[in-house]
Amino acid sequence: MRIGVPKEIKTNENRVAVVPAGAEALVSAGHEVVIETGAGVGSGFANAAYTAVGAKIAETAAAVWAGAEMIMKVKEPVEIEWPHMRAGQLIYTYFHFAADEPLTRAVIASGAIAIAYETVQLPNGELPLLTPMSEVAGRMAVQEGAKYLEKVFGGSGILLAGVPGVAPGKVVIIGGGVVGVNAAKVAAGLGAHVVILDVSLPRLRYLDDILPANVDTAYSNRHNILTAIEHADLVIGAVLVPGTKAPHLVKRADLARMQPGAVIVDVAVDQGGIFETIRPTTHENPTYFVDGILHYGVANMPGGVPRTSTLALTNATLPYALKLVRHGWKAACKADGALRLGLNVVEGKIVYPGVAEAFGIPV
Ligand code: NAD
Repeated sequence: MRIGVPKEIKTNENRVAVVPAGAEALVSAGHEVVIETGAGVGSGFANAAYTAVGAKIAETAAAVWAGAEMIMKVKEPVEIEWPHMRAGQLIYTYFHFAADEPLTRAVIASGAIAIAYETVQLPNGELPLLTPMSEVAGRMAVQEGAKYLEKVFGGSGILLAGVPGVAPGKVVIIGGGVVGVNAAKVAAGLGAHVVILDVSLPRLRYLDDILPANVDTAYSNRHNILTAIEHADLVIGAVLVPGTKAPHLVKRADLARMQPGAVIVDVAVDQGGIFETIRPTTHENPTYFVDGILHYGVANMPGGVPRTSTLALTNATLPYALKLVRHGWKAACKADGALRLGLNVVEGKIVYPGVAEAFGIPV
């Protein structure tokens, strides 16, 4: 099969869908891999790293799309890419259709087959192609929070690790899922005092078992949230309620209880955030103040560390890609229920109920 890997053209998107190790695996399985020139550069992979493992380089996006039976991308095709999509072509990438009706209609009209990373789902409910990005965002949330606590960035001037004779900083993490546990590990590793809150008792039991002694768990209710944030230097929002917007667990009036110069990193901002006062920001302009509290609301945190994010994402996407090219999408999706749930649009029809419902289009 011929696999095309276009360069990502969405603003500030430096990830790439296939790394040289992935290209090598696909080539050695007997497939042809065509990478658009420079597609890997933002993640630290030069053209030569791909040609060394037998991939070919194409000079234009059009050349990548034209001959490919399967396109592998990171972000959804943007408008200028839509004319490249064609009937029968398999497109394997993040789509987030429910949030983008024009894109949905363009993919329907193209007759292509769209497998969306974000809806590939294991029987236990896990989303294996989203998990790596939550791992990155969770770990990065502490790194960013620690940075913005520095005085020069507007924070209160506290070193989370403390030093001998000076107590460490206090980190509160609301939501103990993938983002939350990864944030807790990094914050605890720095030596901070950490409190992690969740509404799931089984999850709190698990967190209590695996996290070190400088992490306390607490049930997430309004009383405990307010008590925790009063003393916090850094508060991380990491709640997800599947299929709906994040609940606003911290209201504007609550900010008055917090320490001046405390930092909020609301990772859940992509679902509306758990702070009433959070709004999406960018890596270029990541923070703003409300009532003396520094807010960080970058909606695509993994984009700030594209090398790590690309490697983490492709570790998860490649095994499914190998199934798709080995068996063809129909047989691969028949055999693998998780991959089947990734099918969103097939040859002119929406096949994922959540997307169909979003636009009132029949499945
Ligand atoms: P997850 O499903 O693994 O975890 C969510 C956790 O929230 C669960 O443990 C759940 O029990 C808990 N929860 C639900 N209601 C709660 C409440 N009221 N109080 C406390 N906890 C509650 O989800 P995740 O992968 O950790 O993702 C968390 C959020 O981060 C999502 O909105 C996701 O889209 C977002 N995210 C953002 C970025 C970014 O760049 N900003 C990157 C990755 C993920």
